[in-house]
Amino acid sequence: MQSDDADPTLNAPSATGHASQPPGSTIGMVGGGQLGRMFAVAASAMGYRVVIFTDDADSPASDVAFGTVVGDLDDRAAIDRFAEQCDVITLEFENIPTATIARCREFAPTYPSASVLATTQDRLLEKTTLREAGLPVTPFCKVDNSDSLKLAGQSLGWPLIVKTARSGYDGKGQHRVESGDDACEVDWAAATDWIAEKCIAFDKEVSVIVARTPDGRCETFPIFENSHHNHILDISIAPAMLSDAMSAQTRQVAVQAAETLDVVGLLCVEFFVADQQVMINEVAPRPHNSGHLTIEGCETSQFEQHLRAVCNLPLGSTRQRTPFAAMANLLGDLWGSSGEAPDWSAALTDPGISLHLYGKLLAKSGRKMGHLTVTGEEPDDVAARVSSARSRLN
Ligand code: ADP
Ligand code: MG
Repeated sequence: MQSDDADPTLNAPSATGHASQPPGSTIGMVGGGQLGRMFAVAASAMGYRVVIFTDDADSPASDVAFGTVVGDLDDRAAIDRFAEQCDVITLEFENIPTATIARCREFAPTYPSASVLATTQDRLLEKTTLREAGLPVTPFCKVDNSDSLKLAGQSLGWPLIVKTARSGYDGKGQHRVESGDDACEVDWAAATDWIAEKCIAFDKEVSVIVARTPDGRCETFPIFENSHHNHILDISIAPAMLSDAMSAQTRQVAVQAAETLDVVGLLCVEFFVADQQVMINEVAPRPHNSGHLTIEGCETSQFEQHLRAVCNLPLGSTRQRTPFAAMANLLGDLWGSSGEAPDWSAALTDPGISLHLYGKLLAKSGRKMGHLTVTGEEPDDVAARVSSARSRLN
């Protein structure tokens, strides 16, 4: 599972009929955000061509890609124009119409599959699938209205977190409901499907990124420990402070989740840790914000690993280059009221800081514009350095 103890002969693509896509091939990337951009940088470094498919004429990813097809993601002619150029196709966000991914599959192997997307686009289906596979997930139930929410509170216990089942991100579409008296506060008309989850008083949040190839080889990254601010990821540190036994168990659950869903590419599994137990909060079948520190922090970045996985190449070593690494997100709130960018040199006065900016033209509050990373020997040191570099931008 982990590079340190992996037998290299076990990591060679097997003769199962899954072709490998060698450097020089063209990779299609559906989605043009920062994840597609960092993927395109990693893929072009290995000699691949990346073509982006996005509905955004100014996408962050197209700045650095070989080509871009701009069109609506459900426009058949645009999908075909994109897919016919590609040897293999992947994606950077899960809320893509499954019909688009199914159509792409008629031109080239497409990972993850339409069925992985169908499951992970729906929090209810995702959690039900993982729970039925015997994996620990946050206690939850389906709710539709104030009455069913009150029943959910009686069985799960208050408070509850109520979420739209589909298309939420960065805490959007979520409400914390303290008691049955507050059940009417939810705007039920805003969505058709809702999930209520037990509100977990977690000790920490961690995530694991698993890479999985078409022939089923898996590799996990070190565990990331994540802190959120306003439901948006704020800081990640690797490796998470967990006992060896908990770390092994968490990685094992993440691999089982990838196998259960039959993901090819990356799966990020977000966990709550409470009372020495881990439970899955949610999963994402793509590169993840908590894995950005792998660019400087690990021998193989999550983006290169994603590429290797979908191309059915040997997976890279996920060993950390230094004992610790930390990442801080840069949100649009750091920009001035008329859109002026911060003075980046203030962060870079620490020569160990790496600055990543996603080339987004418009800075908005809560919008992910870039991140900072630092690597080092001590957990407190990397956390303090990345936070203070960011605070110098204020
Ligand atoms: P998304 O990232 O898609 O917006 P999440 O379900 O990951 O949705 O929620 C964002 C954050 O909100 C989590 O990382 C966590 O900090 C908090 N949160 C979400 N669900 C719960 C829960 N059931 N109990 C406690 N905190 C939660
Ligand atoms: Mg999340």
